[in-house]
Amino acid sequence: MKKIAILGSTGSIGTQTLEVVRSNPELEVTALAAGGNVRKMEEQIREFKPCAACMWTKEAACDLKNRVADMDIKILWGMEGLLEIAVLPQVQVLVTAIVGMIGIRPTIAAIESGKNIALANKETLVTAGHIIMPLAKKHNVSILPVDSEHSAVFQSLNGERADRIEKILLTASGGPFRGKTRKELESVQVEDALKHPNWAMGRKITIDSSTLVNKGLEVMEAKWLFGVELNRIQVVVHPQSIIHSMVEYADGAVMAQLGTPDMKLPIQYALFYPDRRPMNGKKVNFFEIGSLTFEKPDTETFTGLGLAYRAAELGGSMPAVYNAANEKAVELFLERRIAYLQIPELIEESMEQHGVIENPSVDDILNTQKQVYEYIAGRVKG
Ligand code: NDP
Repeated sequence: MKKIAILGSTGSIGTQTLEVVRSNPELEVTALAAGGNVRKMEEQIREFKPCAACMWTKEAACDLKNRVADMDIKILWGMEGLLEIAVLPQVQVLVTAIVGMIGIRPTIAAIESGKNIALANKETLVTAGHIIMPLAKKHNVSILPVDSEHSAVFQSLNGERADRIEKILLTASGGPFRGKTRKELESVQVEDALKHPNWAMGRKITIDSSTLVNKGLEVMEAKWLFGVELNRIQVVVHPQSIIHSMVEYADGAVMAQLGTPDMKLPIQYALFYPDRRPMNGKKVNFFEIGSLTFEKPDTETFTGLGLAYRAAELGGSMPAVYNAANEKAVELFLERRIAYLQIPELIEESMEQHGVIENPSVDDILNTQKQVYEYIAGRVKG
C-alpha cells in the first residue's frame, strides 16, 4: 500500500489525482488539504477517509469540522496545518497540487522529513529551485514531475546519461490565441482566455497557457528539474498536444513521449514510478490524428515567454518577481480590472523596478512576492 497526501485536493490536479486513486486500490489517501471549498472537501473525506484534512482559514476548518463531526479525522488549518500534513509519518508521497508560492514551505518540510514529492506546483521550483533541488539531493528524495511536459522529458530521459542531453524540447499547444496579432489581443475577454483548445485545467493556469507565461514558468521548472542550461531549453509549438515534450541527444536522436492530453497519465506515472500501470481512457490513434505539426513560438506577440527567459537569466529573486507579477496580474484580469495585454506589461514593469537578490532565502522570496503585489496594487487602482 502506498500512502499519499494531497495539497490542493479540490482543484483540477487534486481531483484528477483522486481519480487515479479510485482506479488503483494500492494507493491510500492519508491526508488532504485545500483552500476554501469545504463542500468538496467533505465529499472527498467521506469517500477517501483520510486521517487528517486542512483548510486555509480557521472559519473554513470549523465549518468542515462540524460537517464531518461523525468521523474520526483531525481537522487543521492555515500554514501550520499544511506543514503538519507535509510531515505526517505515514505519508510516503506528497502530491503538491496547490496553486502559488504557498507550496514552498510545505514542500521543504516534506523533503526534510524524507517524503518523495509528486510535484505539480511549479511555482515552488520556479522561485525556490535553488533551495529545493539541493535539499532533495541531500535527503535522497525524488522530485517526480506531474506537469505533462516535464513528465514527458523525465520519461524520455529513462536510461540515458544527463551529460548527453543536447536540448530539451518543451512542446506548447500555443493556446487559444495562436496566430492572433497584438491588435486582435487588445479586445480579449476573460471567457475567451479561459477556452483552452486541448486541456481542461484550473483558471489561473488556463490564462497562463493563453499568454505563454505558463510555458515560461515551465522553462524555469525544466532548468531546475533536469539541471540543464537555459540555452538548451527550446519551446516548440505543437497545436495537437500529442507529443508532450522531447529530448534531443548528442548523436541527434530525439526521444519523445506521446499520449492523448490527459493529466491522469503523468499523475499516475509520478505515483508509481518506475512502474507503468494500466490506465483506462482514450489511447492515441495515429490514423485519426493524421498529422502532427510544429511552429516557432510567436515571442513578438506573446512577450511573456521572452520575459521568462530574461527572469531566469537574471536569476536570484527575479523569477519570483516574474511569477508574483503574473499571479497578481492574472487575478486582476479575471476580476476584469485590467486588459489582457496588461498582464505581460505588468510583469515587465515589475521586473524593471526590482533589484535582484542573489541566492534568496524563502523569506526573501515571500517578501519579494509581497512587494510585487503591493507595487501592482499601487499601479492598478479602483
Ligand atoms: P486549481 O486552481 O484547479 O486548484 C488549486 C488547489 O489549491 C485547490 O484545491 C485550492 O483549494 C487549493 N488552494 C488554493 N489556495 C490554497 C491555500 N491558501 N491553502 C491550501 N490550498 C489552497 O489549480 P490546478 O489544479 O490547475 O493547478 C495546481 C498546480 O498545478 C499549479 O501550480 C499549476 O501550475 C500546476 N499544474 C496544473 C496543471 C493542470 O492541468 N491543471 C498541469 C500542470 C501543472 P480550493 O479550491 O478549496 O480553494
